[in-house]
Amino acid sequence: MKNVLIAKHPATGETIDQWLETEVQHVSDIYEKSSAAFKFWSTRPLETRLSFLTKMKHYLLENIDEIVEEICSATGKVKTEALTADLMPVIDILQHYEKRAPKILKRQKVSTPILFVGKSSYVDYFPLGTVLIISPWNYPFQLSMTPVISALIAGNSVILKPSEVTPTIGLLIEKIAREINLPKNVLQVAHGGKELGQALVSGTPDSIFFTGSVETGRKIGMEASKRFIPYTLELGGKDPMIVFDDAPLMRAVHGAVWGAFTNAGQVCMSIERVYVQSSIHGEFIDRLVEETKKLKMGEDVGSLTFHQQKEVIRDHVLDALEKGALLLTGRHPDKWGESMYLEPMVLTNITQDMKIVTEETFGPVMPVIAFSTEEEAINKANSTEFGLNASVWTKDSKKADRVTSKLVTGNAVINDVLVSVANPHLPFGGVKSSGTGKYHGDEGLYTFSRQMSVMRDPGIKQKEINWYPYQNKYLKVRALILAYFSTKKQKAALVRSFYKQLRKK
Ligand code: NAD
Repeated sequence: MKNVLIAKHPATGETIDQWLETEVQHVSDIYEKSSAAFKFWSTRPLETRLSFLTKMKHYLLENIDEIVEEICSATGKVKTEALTADLMPVIDILQHYEKRAPKILKRQKVSTPILFVGKSSYVDYFPLGTVLIISPWNYPFQLSMTPVISALIAGNSVILKPSEVTPTIGLLIEKIAREINLPKNVLQVAHGGKELGQALVSGTPDSIFFTGSVETGRKIGMEASKRFIPYTLELGGKDPMIVFDDAPLMRAVHGAVWGAFTNAGQVCMSIERVYVQSSIHGEFIDRLVEETKKLKMGEDVGSLTFHQQKEVIRDHVLDALEKGALLLTGRHPDKWGESMYLEPMVLTNITQDMKIVTEETFGPVMPVIAFSTEEEAINKANSTEFGLNASVWTKDSKKADRVTSKLVTGNAVINDVLVSVANPHLPFGGVKSSGTGKYHGDEGLYTFSRQMSVMRDPGIKQKEINWYPYQNKYLKVRALILAYFSTKKQKAALVRSFYKQLRKK
């Protein structure tokens, strides 16, 4: 019997929609349909594929308010955040690839060393096949649509499994595909949770693109490795913000407040640790508390999206308070009640053994920690298993470069927060436990492509010097190699020794 999925508003509990779950036994059917759609879609010219994405961009712009409303009721986000951080990046990536994709995916000529005289070389890009995309609940629209769009442009067919926590977004994406008349089964949405996700991963995808937790990412990476299929993992973070005493103070305060509390802290690149140089620590904290208290719940800060996440946040805050942390803003977890709105929390008196320093909290929680030297700040910033994003604040550009280059992270920002992800020219992805692989930028299309390196010979010569027969060839080839790879000085010495040997003879 089919399961009925019921979507509820996370904060009010009101039922938004209900429909049928995709059954696990249909997974092989879904892959068959996807393979058939791939044969058709991959042979359309790039301009045809892009024309559907232009239609998609127009559809999003024409229905901007309805889509924002749908995102808000699925997630509990405030409207401005749904617009700027979930919908706008999708419009932006569509516009970016509309212009750039023909350059990125066209044949790339590369030079050919003189040793291979007469030959030419190039790289071609082909689609991979069926791409399985599994997405999370925190930016359910953007984190589904950006990889879907990139995979489709590169000529793949796509199976998307959005998060069961925000299931109406899957329905919205299906509707958009229908509205722009995307050819049948080029994009299929599978509705369901973990079991369906597992069944899809164990099916026959040609590539997997996953955004979500480290725990799930690890399982998916292992499954993909069994079949040697390419995979990308966009996982969690514990992003540090380093504020030196010569930083633009109020900009850093405002940046920290926004970076830690936007989307109620449910951001993979949230500012989850703030390291402030000791000489300004007191003043920084005072300003931070003042600015945090100005935020309005429901207007600036939305609700949490996922009930289970509230328990993770509670556990981390209680652990910190038990170990001596001080809560400067927001409420003690005992006073949270049933509400999904959590007032932003600034904490001090932090020690390295607290979960709010080492584990991803994914909520409106900002631990502030003092440091003395540059080296200490770098060591502390690099001390977790994560490496997604980081920010460095100082007016000294040399120091900014020096410190940034020592951070082990996939992305970094100087005198700003999070923003690098918003530039569609920049590749995005984490290191360490924050994941592997990239999307966005030119690499965002290569991630969904099979690269083929080709060398072409005009086919005129009867044979090459390195082919058979080898008899009497060693010394000739040796001379050629020495001449080719030696420096000018070494070449002169070689010529001198050659004449010396001639004279002896
Ligand atoms: P999650 O891992 O619980 O779930 C993500 C998706 O995976 C969901 O669709 C879920 O149904 C599916 N899933 C769960 N178990 C599965 C399995 N065994 N096999 C296949 N699919 C499975 O993560 P979440 O709670 O939805 O998302 C929050 C996490 O995502 C946070 O850690 C956050 O930092 C991370 N995230 C990372 C990025 C990034 O770009 N690096 C962006 C947003 C969120």
